[in-house]
Amino acid sequence: MNELDKKRQIIKYSQLFSTNSFSPIRSGNISIKHKRKDVEGFLISPSGKKNIELNATDIVFVSMSGEVKKNKTPSSEWRFHLDLYKSVKCNAIVHAHSKFSVICSCLFKEIPSFHYMIALIESKSIKVAKYALYGSKKLSKNILEVMKNSKGCLISNHGQVTVGDSIGEAYELAEEVELLCEYYYHCKLYKDPKIISTKEMNKVLEKILNYKKK
Ligand code: 13P
Ligand code: ZN
Repeated sequence: MNELDKKRQIIKYSQLFSTNSFSPIRSGNISIKHKRKDVEGFLISPSGKKNIELNATDIVFVSMSGEVKKNKTPSSEWRFHLDLYKSVKCNAIVHAHSKFSVICSCLFKEIPSFHYMIALIESKSIKVAKYALYGSKKLSKNILEVMKNSKGCLISNHGQVTVGDSIGEAYELAEEVELLCEYYYHCKLYKDPKIISTKEMNKVLEKILNYKKK
């Protein structure tokens, strides 16, 4: 995919954030890995703009050493996108303030294996990265700590992050994480849900790798 097509993808998914209020107003950010000439880096949504109003010139290229062209303002979360590309195998990242991910990130330290589909993020639970100031190095460090063996996590008092081989995959995982958080929230209102055993979750993790058909 060329640079313009990737920018169009970022715009398309940022607009999806808004159209169904998945990540409201200016919240959240999206990036896709990209090589510009010989420079490795990624394209990312800008900081502080309404997701519904983005156009191609707003999308910013950030190099893997964190360089940005003057007069461009990448998302304030460019650092954790950069650090994730460096340490997790992925081509795209979605960060969203989806409703139930935010609620659960404020209430819980971890979403346990109450539902087998948690395995979609290649983990037995959804971990919650410790709170730190948005856009900070500390926040990036906290996110990396819980994303080592997983494709998704919550960020305490903030929202969620997912990664994927493509932007479509990362976005779909963000939708799955949101749904799981919604189910968990409602279960917890009633009582502590039953938990699937580690042994069973290991079976699910093996089986679910072949679940998605292209
Ligand atoms: P940006 O507009 O700078 O991407 O910030 C939104 C956000 O979600 C910060 O965590
Ligand atoms: Zn955020």
